[in-house]
Order: sequence, then C-alpha cells, then structure tokens
Amino acid sequence: MGLFATGKEGKRVFYKTSAEIELMRNANLVVSKTLAHVASLLKPGVTGEAIDKAAEEFIRDHGGRPAFKGYGSSENPFPGSLCVSYNDIVVHGIPSKREFKENDIVSVDCGVELEGFYGDAAFTFAFQNVQEPTMELLRVTYASLYIGIEQAVHGKRVGDISSAIQEYCERKHPYGIVRDLVGHGVGRSLHEDPEVPNYGKRGKGPLILEGLVLAIEPMVNLGKKEVHQAEDGWTIHTRDRTPSAHFEHSVVVKKNKADILSDHSFLLEAIKNNPNLQEIQPKS
Ligand code: MG
Ligand code: MG
Repeated sequence: MGLFATGKEGKRVFYKTSAEIELMRNANLVVSKTLAHVASLLKPGVTGEAIDKAAEEFIRDHGGRPAFKGYGSSENPFPGSLCVSYNDIVVHGIPSKREFKENDIVSVDCGVELEGFYGDAAFTFAFQNVQEPTMELLRVTYASLYIGIEQAVHGKRVGDISSAIQEYCERKHPYGIVRDLVGHGVGRSLHEDPEVPNYGKRGKGPLILEGLVLAIEPMVNLGKKEVHQAEDGWTIHTRDRTPSAHFEHSVVVKKNKADILSDHSFLLEAIKNNPNLQEIQPKS
C-alpha cells in the first residue's frame, strides 16, 4: 500500500538488526510467492475478488496474515487482502466482481505480516492485448523502481532516491508521477518513517543509513500526475483516466548496494508460464 504524503520528517524511523532483517526477508518471501501465485491465476474472465480469495488462503497457508485486510479506520477498513488496481486505478483498488479483460493492466499490491514483521511488494501485470504506449509506461516505471533502489545506499538521502525516479519518468520520459502517495519505511509496522516520494531533489531529505528498510514504489501515470479518490474512500484513480503503473520492492539500505527483500523472480517466472500475460522487461 502506498502512503498518503504528509511531507513531514517523522520520528518513527527504526533501524533493523540483522536478525530482524531475516524475519523481514521471510515475510517478503511469502509476499513474493503470493504475487507469483496470483500471476499464475490471471486470465480474462477471472475477478479481483477471486484472486483476492486465493491470495488470502495462500498467505494464511504460509503462516502469514494479510496486512491490508482491515487496514485503515474502523469505519471504513480495507476489505481485501490485496489491492487490485486495474487500468486508470493507481493504487488501493478494492477487489471486486469485475472480470479482467484481455487488454487490462492490473497492479497487484500485497502485504504480509509474519512473526511481527511486514513484507510489502507490488507488480503491474499486463494481459496479452495491452498495446503500446501502455506497455512502454510499464517498462519505464519498472525500470525506475530499480533506478531508485540503486540510490538506497548508506549515507545518501531520501531525495537521491526520489530525484532519480523523477528524472527518469518525468524528464527522460513524458509521464506524470503521482505526488499524493509515496513509498515508506517498513518493519514492525506496515508504514514507518521516512516517507519516500517518487519526486524530489538530490541531496535533500532524511539521511538513510545501513539497516533502514524502505518500501520503494513508483506510481506513474501515462497522462497527468493528478489523482482522485473515489467515494469508496480507497480507490485512487488518475484524474484524466489514463492508465497508471505501480511497482514496489522492500529493500534494506546497505553500504554499497541495497539488499532487495522482496523477490520478483517468482512472479516473473509465473508470467513466462502464463500465456494470458505479457512479459515486462525493465528498460535500460
Ligand atoms: Mg505495497
Ligand atoms: Mg507500500
């Protein structure tokens, strides 16, 4: 789940010990395998509700708890185990009875709590009939995730991650980066500090040091950056109704190179084996 940006430098920054990082790796492994399971089930005619049910079962069978289920205020808790956000929905889509179509893109965001720690990752899947320029949006957004992760090293600042993503998506490419929602620290809570915006200035923002775990998650629109929240209090869609892409990893800040705790290799393999889906290679 993305986090609503406040722009504040919060105090809930928690550095993790190596033992805690291994627990987080376990939680993220369940996330990663759940996303792969979902990838194996995606085909036209299947509903968001069906993949959500399958994901919840999968998570519980692996000893985890779906972190998104019941998240939020007691008046309007999130009802799903996954966020299922198709086409012009950016994030926080509620799993529904709508059937997927062969030209849909679908962002699936998964959070799992296991032994007191959270894992969080997302991927935008493309059905077989998705055309350019939407495929290009997915390749660029996926590449920008790794461009951001390259900056998640000891001694840098959050702005180094933010500006690298923005440079690639908004200067090198003509897309609109969502401002209202941001990445975040993650650990014993789903959302910890610092906020990790996908836009910003190099050398600015909180210092990042070894042991910090960040959920980096570019949310990028084919059209303009503005978004709108639907009346259900969750669904975020693009204001101009153009498609939107979302990719996320949970990573540990290290000395030379971030350690990626969530592992997309399982879902990439599942995409290869699912004739209903197109592969998305991050662009270089
Ligand atoms: Mg997420
Ligand atoms: Mg997140």
